[in-house]
Amino acid sequence: MSAGGQSANPEGTWDEERCEAAIARLEQLQEQMDAMRLAIHRIVKPLTAPRNNPDQLYAAYKNAVLGSQNEIKALRGNWQSQETQSIFEHTKESLRANSDLSAAANVPQWGWREAQERRRKAGSRKRKAAEMEDAPTRLDAAEVKRIVEEAQREHPQIHVEMRNEDNRELTIRFADGAKPKLLTSNLVFSVAVQHQANGQHKLDAECLGMAPDAFVISRCIASRPRANDLKYLLDMIAAYYTVRGSSCAKCKERFDRSMQSPMARRSLQTTTDSGTTETTWQAFHESCL
Ligand SMILES: [Zn+2]
Repeated sequence: MSAGGQSANPEGTWDEERCEAAIARLEQLQEQMDAMRLAIHRIVKPLTAPRNNPDQLYAAYKNAVLGSQNEIKALRGNWQSQETQSIFEHTKESLRANSDLSAAANVPQWGWREAQERRRKAGSRKRKAAEMEDAPTRLDAAEVKRIVEEAQREHPQIHVEMRNEDNRELTIRFADGAKPKLLTSNLVFSVAVQHQANGQHKLDAECLGMAPDAFVISRCIASRPRANDLKYLLDMIAAYYTVRGSSCAKCKERFDRSMQSPMARRSLQTTTDSGTTETTWQAFHESCL
């Protein structure tokens, strides 16, 4: 076994992690083969126990045979798998490159599977901790109010009305007389904060009204990125006022093939010369998203 081999492999480099995973797999193969030593004993055992009922004897014998067959199938599957075959291939290449196997004497024969399992568990704990950090703050009434007030300060042209005691429903209008440029009607949006059993929330947003534009805009909002970010959603709605949809940022055309104006708004992060990040909003056709 050439655990420290470094030869190139079509599936990638044999680094330390991959070599350790390979030894763990070989240890598993060894365990499967060791278990096969008892196969004959397990098949014969039901025949040696005294039984009065032939049906019971047959059932016990059948189970023992099927159990052993399944073990053989599992061993064959593991042996013939691409992963195991690539290990064998690598050991041959490594042996050709360097036939001195003296270092293998210092490689423990057992314990690799346990070590791999410990690493897997530690990795999944780490991932869970990172997910917890990324989890959005609970969107309670106070948090909704704080976000709405921040959005209103940034976008004086939008007016957000909060309803329900816990601010779960929002209606967003543009300031009096402010008609979004190049859109056929004044737009009104509604946002509902849906609290879920797992403590997370979901934001349902809609452009109200029966005009065809309203349906298209609702669809473009529904497919937004950062779907659970209320501030991002309010910024996007404000962009229907601030960003002229005169041409699409992607295809540069006024109308797409179905004669639709750019009805979607999406943000673009750019870094200025001074190194700060700026967000700008752009118009897109729904078909260009
Ligand atoms: Zn376009």
